[in-house]
Amino acid sequence: MTDAGPRSATEWRAAAQTFATEYVRPRAESIDRDDRIPSELVRALAAQKFTALGLPPDWGGQPADTATVSAVLEELAAASAAVAVTLAVHLSVCATPISQWGTAGQQASWLPALARGDRIGAFGLTEPGAGSDTASLRTRYEHVPEGFVLNGSKTFISNAATAGLLLVFASRDPSLGSHGISAFLVPGGTPGFSVTQRFDKLGLRGSETTELLLENVRLPATALLGPEGGGLKVALSALAGGRVGIASCALGVARAAFEEMRRRVRLEDADWKRTLLARSFVELASARALVEGAARRRDSGQPFTTEASAAKLVASRAAVFIASAGMDVAGPSGAISGAAPERLLRDARVFPIVEGTTEIQELILARALLEDDPPRTA
Ligand SMILES: Cc1cc2nc3c(=O)[nH]c(=O)nc-3n(C[C@H](O)[C@H](O)[C@H](O)COP(=O)(O)OP(=O)(O)OC[C@H]3O[C@@H](n4cnc5c(N)ncnc54)[C@H](O)[C@@H]3O)c2cc1C
Repeated sequence: MTDAGPRSATEWRAAAQTFATEYVRPRAESIDRDDRIPSELVRALAAQKFTALGLPPDWGGQPADTATVSAVLEELAAASAAVAVTLAVHLSVCATPISQWGTAGQQASWLPALARGDRIGAFGLTEPGAGSDTASLRTRYEHVPEGFVLNGSKTFISNAATAGLLLVFASRDPSLGSHGISAFLVPGGTPGFSVTQRFDKLGLRGSETTELLLENVRLPATALLGPEGGGLKVALSALAGGRVGIASCALGVARAAFEEMRRRVRLEDADWKRTLLARSFVELASARALVEGAARRRDSGQPFTTEASAAKLVASRAAVFIASAGMDVAGPSGAISGAAPERLLRDARVFPIVEGTTEIQELILARALLEDDPPRTA
């Protein structure tokens, strides 16, 4: 692969496959064991321009549609879910919202560094008392002469410890509900911003998950992303795109688990093993169809929120089903620490929670289906 980076969708997928085989898969076990992605690996991702995918070329981005980004994330996730999720968060819920909502000045200030991977992006919405119910944020912002001051805390935030830039959501007045929420760009290292805890978790180990404190964080007026009071819109549009990214990562894990299982099942094996393989194939194919369908709809400029939720729900369910079936097929050897089946199962189990739980995807889907006029069908 050249430094200029490949161009077509097929070339990007092939480049991701090569990168996954050469750099990621050999380190997947140690990333999981040490709960850390080596910084050289992040630099290598950036050197191959994966951190610039889909961002505007004027700011150092590499042209790529959603289907291409999805293919890259799937390939990386099939080698290490943690690496893919780190990239998905950086691209989908930090850099892309800046491309979408940022002023020319904000894009010029932040996108080149994000595209180069000099800054890795994070997204800070969830709080100790506000997860699924995003409108009930307690993190507050106030106006001051030079801009804004933020106070509050965030939890379960990916990429934040090493983040060069964090998109943070805060409320001017919680009694205003969703209308009080605004989005802010907070550079890593801003005084008053600190990581108070890094969680040791079941799966996606290596993708850091942290608790943050914002204590009198002073920001210039240019830190406001999108209209004041429009923060929830920024968050929801980022999350809709983010769900296609996370669904692609779940698809990669589902595929890796399927391939693991396939290697262990023989034609002469018991019915139950062959049945699990067949069911897993159907789960994987359904997830792929929904993920590719959601990406296609987004790329063709059609509304895609419903498809993104369906893709995220089904791909994360497929990952859990196949990884769990794979553990049954592998038996005790698959349960040993460091064995691929046990890592895949732990990774898979986190996907139904991140970027909106399965129950929340069902609520989004039901609302969209009931509000659609004319009513849509699948
Ligand atoms: C590994 C990891 C990484 C994450 N990264 C980020 C990140 O980068 N940025 C960020 O902002 N957040 C992040 N999150 C947070 C994640 O988005 C939230 O955990 C998720 O949205 C759920 O919120 P909660 O944990 O507060 O659960 P809650 O909202 O308290 O939900 C608890 C349970 O109740 C169910 N539930 C809640 N409301 C309803 C309802 N109305 N109807 C039916 N069931 C309901 C949920 O489905 C869930 O099963 C991450 C989480 C994890 C685990």
